[in-house]
Amino acid sequence: MPRFYPHIYLHVPFCGRRCSYCDFSIAVRRIVPVDRYVENLLRELRSRGEKFSTNVQSIYFGGGTPSKLGGEGVAAILRGLRAIAGSDGMSAPIPEVTVEANPEDISIDLVRAWRGAGVNRVSLGVQSFDPGVLSWMHRGHSPEMSEAAVRTIREGGIDAISLDLIFAIPDQVGSSRLTSDLDRAVALEPSHLSVYGLTVEPRTPLGRWNARGAVEEAPEDRYAEEFLLAHDRLAAAGYEHYEVSSYARPGHRALHNAAYWSGAPYLGLGPSAHGFDGRVRRWNTEAYTEWTSQVEQGIDPLAGEETIGSDERLAEEVYLGLRTIDGLVIRPEDTTTIGPWIGAGWGRQAGDRLVLTPQGWLRIDALAAALTSVRSRS
Ligand code: SF4
Repeated sequence: MPRFYPHIYLHVPFCGRRCSYCDFSIAVRRIVPVDRYVENLLRELRSRGEKFSTNVQSIYFGGGTPSKLGGEGVAAILRGLRAIAGSDGMSAPIPEVTVEANPEDISIDLVRAWRGAGVNRVSLGVQSFDPGVLSWMHRGHSPEMSEAAVRTIREGGIDAISLDLIFAIPDQVGSSRLTSDLDRAVALEPSHLSVYGLTVEPRTPLGRWNARGAVEEAPEDRYAEEFLLAHDRLAAAGYEHYEVSSYARPGHRALHNAAYWSGAPYLGLGPSAHGFDGRVRRWNTEAYTEWTSQVEQGIDPLAGEETIGSDERLAEEVYLGLRTIDGLVIRPEDTTTIGPWIGAGWGRQAGDRLVLTPQGWLRIDALAAALTSVRSRS
């Protein structure tokens, strides 16, 4: 039965090369097969028979590196989505259309083409302003290219710009430059920042360096110190720390990500894309070549699905509620558990809700597990 989705995620798998820390599902391509990919993405949508809500709230081009699609690739997908939606879908203006981009891909023509196609937000993979760190990460841009990209995006008419930064870089890469990274990011006046701690994933170059002892994950106390440093500096610069890793100027919270955190339905298209219809979570075949072959043969590229049962729903409700500053509605059975957390400064009560503090977010997994356990027993 077709569902009506208010949010759409499109996974664009192409990258010029693999960054040292990245374990996303990507396809490294020197020349990106834009036309074939666009055709297959729309073919997947048509063959699955999914429908959009008449008032789609967000479309998110994630990756991979969606900016590798160029102006025409992104425009062709948006035209195709509108054509498939027909007169009953996507009729209203879409409040948030985001493209993830790497700084080296940005040009004024590209931004103008995106703007003309309806893109109104760019999420830029800056990661660091330190040339040594960028080179260690295998990034394809310099700090100056990131700064120039922000100026160009604005000049091209897109004002909603989010910057990604990474903290907790291993000691072996040199002393932490987080303070200067934050200052240079703030100086660019982005409307949004996503600030992530580096994690060592086994199936990555970093994972291999770690396995042979060449590099170690930053210790927990430095992770915590830098997480809190980012909070303090960005809050002082007027950014609201509204989710564990997300900061926004007033009125600029990410609509698309909020859909994930609130349990709203979203459609996922493309290799490895996940989707959720409110009851069932599904995910697509990961490898680009396999996804392409399945879609071209008219096969649904479904790799797996699970119906969210009451236990999972309870655990998700607690975890998702705790990860944003909107907080979690407190139930009577929570009181004895959360009292000591509030006493320890890990959370505060705001009306009928529990809102974690940054110190609480550093312990979110343990706190969510404790609260889920209490609720499941009552
Ligand atoms: S550009 Fe992004 S998706 Fe591609 S390898 Fe680097 S981190 Fe991963």
